[in-house]
Amino acid sequence: MTRRITTAQLLVLQLGRIKDRGELHPTQVSLAKWNNVRMGLDICREARDILGAGGISIEYSPIRHMMNLESVITYEGTETIHELSVGSQLCGKHAF
Ligand SMILES: Cc1cc2nc3c(=O)[nH]c(=O)nc-3n(C[C@H](O)[C@H](O)[C@H](O)COP(=O)(O)OP(=O)(O)OC[C@H]3O[C@@H](n4cnc5c(N)ncnc54)[C@H](O)[C@@H]3O)c2cc1C
Repeated sequence: MTRRITTAQLLVLQLGRIKDRGELHPTQVSLAKWNNVRMGLDICREARDILGAGGISIEYSPIRHMMNLESVITYEGTETIHELSVGSQLCGKHAF
């Protein structure tokens, strides 16, 4: 968990630096949103799993965060659209 959370934090820190330099490309935002929301969702699922069956109860916070992140994966660009955006930048071809 620590490894992935720290990696995600470093990604957005670097993105902020690039933005401050005025060199930010939209595809870099796609990559970061795609990676970090997916990472957050995976971490919540792991936290829920650690709690066992009790983890599915709203008495514990991981499932609430999971449900919130399920909506974040959709708004501000769905995960699929960010994948397509990064893919088109890498390949120079649009798949949509
Ligand atoms: C909690 C929440 C809050 C929201 N708040 C706002 C808000 O404040 N303002 C606002 O304007 N909107 C808001 N939205 C709407 C959100 O931005 C849209 O739901 C989102 O853009 C996806 O559009 P859609 O629901 O029409 O799905 P669609 O565009 O129909 O997409 C359905 C699925 O098909 C995929 N897909 C779409 N096009 C392609 C393609 N060309 N190739 C491959 N796959 C594709 C998508 O990735 C997705 O998985 C919110 C959504 C949620 C869940």
